[in-house]
Amino acid sequence: MKPFIDAHAHLVHNFDSRHLDEVAESGLVKQVWLLPLECYVPEFEFAGNDEVLEVGKRYPGLFVPFGYIDFFQGPDQVDRLKERGFVGLKAIRPPKDYNDPAYFPIYARAEELEMPVLFHVGIISHRRQDQLTIPVPPGPAHMKPSMLDTLGDLFPKLKLVQGHLGVPWVNELFESVFYYRNISCTVTGLVDYDWLIHNLDRRTSYGESFSDRLMFACDGFYGRPEFWKRILSLAEFTRMFFQEVGKTYSWHDAEERFMLENARRLFPEFAALGEK
Ligand SMILES: [Zn+2]
Repeated sequence: MKPFIDAHAHLVHNFDSRHLDEVAESGLVKQVWLLPLECYVPEFEFAGNDEVLEVGKRYPGLFVPFGYIDFFQGPDQVDRLKERGFVGLKAIRPPKDYNDPAYFPIYARAEELEMPVLFHVGIISHRRQDQLTIPVPPGPAHMKPSMLDTLGDLFPKLKLVQGHLGVPWVNELFESVFYYRNISCTVTGLVDYDWLIHNLDRRTSYGESFSDRLMFACDGFYGRPEFWKRILSLAEFTRMFFQEVGKTYSWHDAEERFMLENARRLFPEFAALGEK
């Protein structure tokens, strides 16, 4: 099996360290962007900032720790996350639209401190208020792909990542990737394969192939052997998708870029963590 980069992943609470050592030693995954989920109650057993950072520090360059943005707090949280060792930020379930001016100071600080922000966009797990740690409305209405366009303009040096394809607003994603050099996308979760098949070889307004702006990810959970199996099978499936479905399309040869090279090229700062 060929190695890949998993550009959107989570960690289970009380992860199995020995198993994580095995994942690291397998060489099958070269980098994992680890996103904390602080917005869910402990019963879900999703790891938050502390455990994500612990794993990021234990495997520098392999597990890349993202810090959770608390939209109820101000921009100085970004400084605190950076000081602790987080290298990116994760945005999910904001109480207002992602591009509400109230949040601009947070993004300005992220731009200043060179911390890429990965935004959950589109369809999201259906949760009741008592399953969340923050008072936010259900559904994805505040998490549309096009909201990142405002930020792409206002913060040109900030790297913005669309987490997922933004179903049911996938053509908003098209618009974002078409115009904005600082917006890329981790393709995972509910993947609209029909959209992918017809858009992987589109060109951006500045002449780049869409297949150079989209990255493979599993949105899976690290830290337990049974979840690792599922991650490996999704990676294998996606390679087969390029080989078998892609064989009559011009994006057929984008497999390696999608699976691994785009993440390295667009985010060299993450790979550099392992070289320090
Ligand atoms: Zn996720």
